[in-house]
Amino acid sequence: MTQTKTAPASVQQPLGEFALTAETLYDKCVALARNLWWSWHPEVINLFRDLDPIRWRQLDHNPIALLREFTPERLEMRAAELVLYSRINYAFRRLKEYLTETPVWGKTHAGVLGSKPVAYFSLEFGVHESLPIYSGGLGVLAGDHIKSASALGVPLVAIGLFYDQGYFKQHLDEKGWQQEEYLNTKVENLPMEPARGKDGKPITVTIDTRTGKLLAKVWLMRVGRGNLYLLDCDVPGNSPEDRELTSRLYGGDNRTRIRQELVCGVGGMRALRALGIMPGVYHLNEGHNAFATLEAIRECMSDDGMAFDDALREVAQHTVFTTHTPVPAGHDRFDGVLIEEHLGPLRDALGISFEQLMGLGRVEPQNEHETFCMTVLGLKLSRKANAVSNLHGHVSRRMWAHLWPWRVEEEGPIGHITNGVHLQSWLSWQMQQLYDRNFPVGWMGRIGEPEPWQNIHDVDPGELWETHYALKNLLLAFVRRRVSRQCRRRGESDDVVEAGRNILDPDVLTLGFGRRFATYKRAALILSDLDWLDKVVNDPKRPVQIIFAGKAHPADEPGKKMIQHIANLRHDPRFAHRIAFIEDYDINVCRHLIQGVDVWLNSPRRPQEASGTSGQKAVLNGVLNLSVLDGWWAEAYDGANGFAIGKGTHHVDSAVTDRRDADALKRAVTAEVVPLFYDRDIDGLPRHWIKRMMNSISSLAWRFSAHRMVADYVHHTYLPAAGGVSSDISAR
Ligand SMILES: *Cc1c(COP(=O)(O)O)cnc(C)c1O
Repeated sequence: MTQTKTAPASVQQPLGEFALTAETLYDKCVALARNLWWSWHPEVINLFRDLDPIRWRQLDHNPIALLREFTPERLEMRAAELVLYSRINYAFRRLKEYLTETPVWGKTHAGVLGSKPVAYFSLEFGVHESLPIYSGGLGVLAGDHIKSASALGVPLVAIGLFYDQGYFKQHLDEKGWQQEEYLNTKVENLPMEPARGKDGKPITVTIDTRTGKLLAKVWLMRVGRGNLYLLDCDVPGNSPEDRELTSRLYGGDNRTRIRQELVCGVGGMRALRALGIMPGVYHLNEGHNAFATLEAIRECMSDDGMAFDDALREVAQHTVFTTHTPVPAGHDRFDGVLIEEHLGPLRDALGISFEQLMGLGRVEPQNEHETFCMTVLGLKLSRKANAVSNLHGHVSRRMWAHLWPWRVEEEGPIGHITNGVHLQSWLSWQMQQLYDRNFPVGWMGRIGEPEPWQNIHDVDPGELWETHYALKNLLLAFVRRRVSRQCRRRGESDDVVEAGRNILDPDVLTLGFGRRFATYKRAALILSDLDWLDKVVNDPKRPVQIIFAGKAHPADEPGKKMIQHIANLRHDPRFAHRIAFIEDYDINVCRHLIQGVDVWLNSPRRPQEASGTSGQKAVLNGVLNLSVLDGWWAEAYDGANGFAIGKGTHHVDSAVTDRRDADALKRAVTAEVVPLFYDRDIDGLPRHWIKRMMNSISSLAWRFSAHRMVADYVHHTYLPAAGGVSSDISAR
């Protein structure tokens, strides 16, 4: 292992033009590491890994941290040993090309956004596992959105918060109880630099509250062609308490929360101004950032001398709002005291009364008992609101129908754009090779189109199966490594650690379940009848094994109990060898799971899963979905491209729904999934299963890609909001 040495200057230098002018091998590696472009290019990832495979894993796949352990001389030596020169030069040239070319798609479809980009606000961004500024699906979606916007050449800047401790790391104690650990990330190990204003000086923004000023500095992170600006309250002028305001994602109480949202929304707007960026569209990814609209109104009033009402209409004209969940706890609400403390000074500038301000966040503006809801503010201050799947569109229109009591419910102004995933971030390298060999040349540039994907039906079934089997073996190696490490950490005996090293069997049908342990996701649905499960997993001819992973919110006791229940099945001899729980679910764990299991299980309580995206990641790798007909799956499943749990109905009584779905799940596993998987031909190939993998890939991969999603946002929301052509997504 290497000692950490003082890093050469270039690691710390501001990036700027450096990315394009690096000359030495070391500087080229640094330039690669400092644009997150590397994170979705397997050849660059492999390059970093080859420099020091063990440290690479230990450092959470963080190339800057890795390079800081190298001197230029040692890097040269290592490159010589491994003959890496041409690979480094090639990767660097590709990055340079990527940064200097303008994609045709953006030029032809999003030209009007060129000088007035989209400002995309989100409280979390899941770009890579080494940047812990996300907790789950919402953040990963935001990360995928900006990566695809970069690929398509859609002018977009992203605004969020920098949490130096991020979201917690999870591990389980001897009793299987979730422990949360917050680690300090070192800024110098992240691809960030201070964002500079027009005057070349680092930017600090100030936000007045009734109880004092809040300051935030601004970081710049480069994600391909796009810039991600992250506000950070750890600056000298803030009180010690406020310096920790942005330490943790979803930490603290409601007051912390409103202050974070104030910094991201209002502070984010001020940062854009200081940067000299004049957005043509504001995209609020969830209600969290809706305060941005109030600051935008203030700007309109002071810049253009508009009256409040006119400015409000003007801002709404340019605002796009995406709502992400029908679960009530997902909609932030603040009482009048918190609102006045934090928005009071802005309210003064807007010249409106407290009641007027509260009214913007209430369904019934005059109702004094109603708290201020960020989703309501987002809905009122946007011209275009959208849900994230077809079904979620219906649910959201019903949920917020009372906002527009004079309208027919289905004609409410909430449309939908179904989520998608950034292909290159989730597609395994092995599967990509297979596509490269069999798809039309240039297919990667046409990810969101159906045609290239139809070639999957011409692939040799044996080749597809072998590729999947190889990925499954990689997953099992990962699971074994993790499980034995988990046992060692808990101080368990050598026998137990050794058993962990041999857990699971690559020839057994493998189900995966990885997601947040929110109650509505019902992780334990498949465990509702343990006698049945015993029979299924221990069937002598056609056994099944399950891998679980997921975090519970630190305050969610029922979620933690569910984790404990699952994790402790390892003490039950019926399940010890067949059920594994992987701690610390994150982008890395997710990637392994959705690339290597046979079946991705999704059992939410309908209709509470707004979209879900992990199943879309699984599709890309030939993994079949077994899912309740909720979220994206309700519009994706066609009878031959995966498996459905139930018939897409739900009862008003959730206990009834749960019971029915548990039965439907059991039926689907025993009557469909298991028989199909073990139905082998003389070559040992599950022909019908492979056919279904092909159906899944050809019918779903392009539809549920983030490229398609971003293109939809451009056509249906960004262009109309920017003042171009209009196209209505309401109630499509
Ligand atoms: C993709 C992803 C999610 C989203 O999963 P769903 O439950 O399907 O919405 C959550 N967490 C991580 C780490 C992910 O990569």
